[in-house]
Amino acid sequence: MLSPMSELPPCPKCASAYTWVDQGRYHCPECDHEWTTAEAASATPTEDGPRVVKDASGNVLQDGDTVTVIKDLKVRGASGSVKVGTKVRNIRLVDGDHDIDCKIDGFGQMGLKSEFVRKVT
Ligand SMILES: [Zn+2]
Repeated sequence: MLSPMSELPPCPKCASAYTWVDQGRYHCPECDHEWTTAEAASATPTEDGPRVVKDASGNVLQDGDTVTVIKDLKVRGASGSVKVGTKVRNIRLVDGDHDIDCKIDGFGQMGLKSEFVRKVT
């Protein structure tokens, strides 16, 4: 669905393919139904929902969670490493190889991999 000339969705009411769009509103000429793109989107949820990030035990992580580090982690640019058992509060999930953004005492802002932490419940 990357084509710029994306096809219009069928009418959600009568499934007519002869729909047309005007200023963000879809119209069906066959049953006179009107709807918006937002309504259409909520009616048919996208396949890739919110991304799920899991810790080493398979617990689902969320923004604001507290986790502990389960492996000594070398920190780029720092002399020491983050030790096993280090508690990390208020994590933030981000996209990327290191999918947890957080702040660790003594190290500051850094990225962690979710596979090296365990959620504190
Ligand atoms: Zn219709």
